Amino acid sequence: MSLLIRGGRVIDPANGVDRMADVLVEEGRVSRVDSGIPGAQQVIDANDKLVLPGLCDLHARFGEPGLEYKEDLASGSAAAVAGGFTTVCVSPATEPINDRRSVTEHIVNGAAARALCRVLPVGALTVGFEGTTLCELADMKEAGIVAVGDDCRTIADAGLMRRALEYASTFDLCVLAHCEDRALAAGGQMHEGTVSTRCGIPAQPAQAESAIVARDLELVELTGARYHLQHISTAQSVEYMRRAKRRGLPVSCEVSALHLRLHDEACKRYDSRTKLRPPLRSAEHVEALEQGLADGTIDAIVSDHLPQTSLEKELEYGLSAFGASSLETTLPLVLDLWRADLISLDRAVACLSANPAALLGLEAGSLSVGAAADLIVVDPELRWVVEGAALHSRSPYTPLEGEKLRGAVVTTLVGGRVVYERAAD
Ligand SMILES: [Zn+2]
Repeated sequence: MSLLIRGGRVIDPANGVDRMADVLVEEGRVSRVDSGIPGAQQVIDANDKLVLPGLCDLHARFGEPGLEYKEDLASGSAAAVAGGFTTVCVSPATEPINDRRSVTEHIVNGAAARALCRVLPVGALTVGFEGTTLCELADMKEAGIVAVGDDCRTIADAGLMRRALEYASTFDLCVLAHCEDRALAAGGQMHEGTVSTRCGIPAQPAQAESAIVARDLELVELTGARYHLQHISTAQSVEYMRRAKRRGLPVSCEVSALHLRLHDEACKRYDSRTKLRPPLRSAEHVEALEQGLADGTIDAIVSDHLPQTSLEKELEYGLSAFGASSLETTLPLVLDLWRADLISLDRAVACLSANPAALLGLEAGSLSVGAAADLIVVDPELRWVVEGAALHSRSPYTPLEGEKLRGAVVTTLVGGRVVYERAAD
């Protein structure tokens, strides 16, 4: 079976490619990237389109096992491929938590049977996310985990975090860290600043994040272990990461596309769809994130997809759960960063594909000849309005409800197979 994607602008940062070309797919793999490739059994016209490596998300939750009412492997992966993600690293925040081999195996087997994209499980670092006992990482790695971390929980005990870093590094597993000092955050529901004061919503200071980032970087210094900061959101965290990288520490970080797009001003209507963890920050923090992205301090952009149902979201602000459905809106937000001249198109694509794949050593995010044909065709000009209820995700809650976005995936291939085609409007 051969398939030709004809006439698109091919951008493949892993191979330094940005040119008009055809891409030939044979036996599920990229077999040639060149101009004027003769016809194949199936031809996809990519005129005026971008042809990109399938995107790779380091941070999403699919809720299977145990939380299928929020999202399962079928609905989560359908949302992923509609958003252009062909590889998704799924958080261990399931029920039971992915803190042991049997759960890892359950996810791997379920994904093989039901998922439209590649699903790579992240294992918990501590049993039950309790921050006291380290998991059997060797066992879980054998079963298929690609990294470790306690999802949206910080290991409060610095001694245990040190041992966790040392332990994970012996298995060559990167620690993915959520940084939030629970005591300092004190149950804050949004970012502490002038907006929270005006709204009267209990808030958490930016330092609840950066204080833990500072601690963790000290521990990286001590252990030399590989460390990845999840969803960075404050100016001081960016500065700490910038300095750590300058000093050559083995660290990296990601930012969520929503945190680059929205400010805490969005929370002032008390709309629980704007309630994210970490909270949306004020303008000066968002500016620092933009600078961090532009100067390379921030390596990757993630969806931080956290599906919730009406039971968790249709409540008053203080009682509602954190999180948004975001797999399907991430790419257009990142294209806007390129349009605003903050980053080049090549870097925008790299932050969503080659970079995250390289951080965890995943076989993804490139259009190298011989690589699995995971690729997407994107119409950068297609305008559409976000309607939560129309998303493929089971969760309709997005802070972008009603926004007009520009850019959409029209075709997604995984292993050379068309797994998504955008319906004509
Ligand atoms: Zn988190």
